[in-house]
Amino acid sequence: MSIDPKSLPGGKPVPLIDLKAQFQPIKEEVLKEFESIFESMYLFLGKNVQALEKEFAEYCDCAHGIGVGSGTDALHLALLACGVKPGDEVITTAYTFIATFEAIAYVGAIPVFVDIDPKTYLMDPSLVERAITPKTKAIIPVHIYGQMVDMDPIMDIARKRGLKVIEDACQAHGATYKGRKAGSIGDAGCFSFYFSKNLGGYGEGGFVTTNDAEINSNVRLLRDHGSPRKYEHDYIGFNARLDELQAAVLRIKLRSLDKWNQLRRAHAGRYNELLANAGVVTPFIDPRGESVYHLYVIRTPQREALREKLIGKQIGVAIHYPIGIHEQVAFRNYSKQQFSLPVTESVCKEVLSLPMYPELSAEQIEYVAACVTNP
Ligand SMILES: *Cc1c(COP(=O)(O)O)cnc(C)c1O
Repeated sequence: MSIDPKSLPGGKPVPLIDLKAQFQPIKEEVLKEFESIFESMYLFLGKNVQALEKEFAEYCDCAHGIGVGSGTDALHLALLACGVKPGDEVITTAYTFIATFEAIAYVGAIPVFVDIDPKTYLMDPSLVERAITPKTKAIIPVHIYGQMVDMDPIMDIARKRGLKVIEDACQAHGATYKGRKAGSIGDAGCFSFYFSKNLGGYGEGGFVTTNDAEINSNVRLLRDHGSPRKYEHDYIGFNARLDELQAAVLRIKLRSLDKWNQLRRAHAGRYNELLANAGVVTPFIDPRGESVYHLYVIRTPQREALREKLIGKQIGVAIHYPIGIHEQVAFRNYSKQQFSLPVTESVCKEVLSLPMYPELSAEQIEYVAACVTNP
């Protein structure tokens, strides 16, 4: 049986994400806040940023939060604030967005990639200890797709060996592990407010969470030209500030984040049911945590054929990620290091992200699942 695209729910394509649908219920509030910012022309690090820093830090169960220019800035400044220096080694995974590696390269450090767990696609903690050398300074576990890495063994190793842990929580706003929030377990947590993330602005933005007063003050100085007071500069810092418009949108959206994450989980549950006999691997969620399903990713050896069929049926699909960082040209030009990451390499060939956003309708999910089942 094949499905006619004319049977699309509401006659419309099913996009990978739908920001227009998310805008409608918050439109009035957002426009009102924008108007008041434009009237005041206080555009950066003002009352919205300060309020967001308090609110999102609290949301993450953290003592401190610092708004920055992007998730990439968050990782970069967190590495600097943790004292990572040129030549230091940083253990992370190659199955992530390029920014995790870029931030390590910005500080002149050396990335050391460990392989991922074949079920969760997350850093395999059992591989971390043997990747440690005398040069190792930090570990960056990446909470990919909205599910947190198994943090306890990583924190144990880090404490025992005197290493810093920086969580890349850019896909995991609100995710939990043993009841603890993403960004609250390591020395620092890094978030992105890129538009497509679970909590996204209408431009660029990012955030660092920490319970460490020194990391807090370091990141605060670094994001604004090393300047504790206007035109006084104690360090060579960066232009990595969060702006008031983004902070205003993010504060409004933060109030709905738990509800939206709950909807994502419900949609994932429905996909899981409908795809149970579709011959594809559905996401495995470790029961010790709660995923926020930044992405809903299936796995199949017929990935390329399925991808083309779904695109033909007006379904927004994507590959996160087709190439491990260790095989990217950018990495190859940076480093001659070789890594054998067989799980990462096989997963890259087989994953496919299906439409996932809170506003998905039951009909849309059924249509997508039917098309995956009978491509
Ligand atoms: C999005 C993302 C980043 C970078 O965030 P930006 O805000 O785009 O700079 C870093 N790491 C991961 C895992 C991401 O998904």
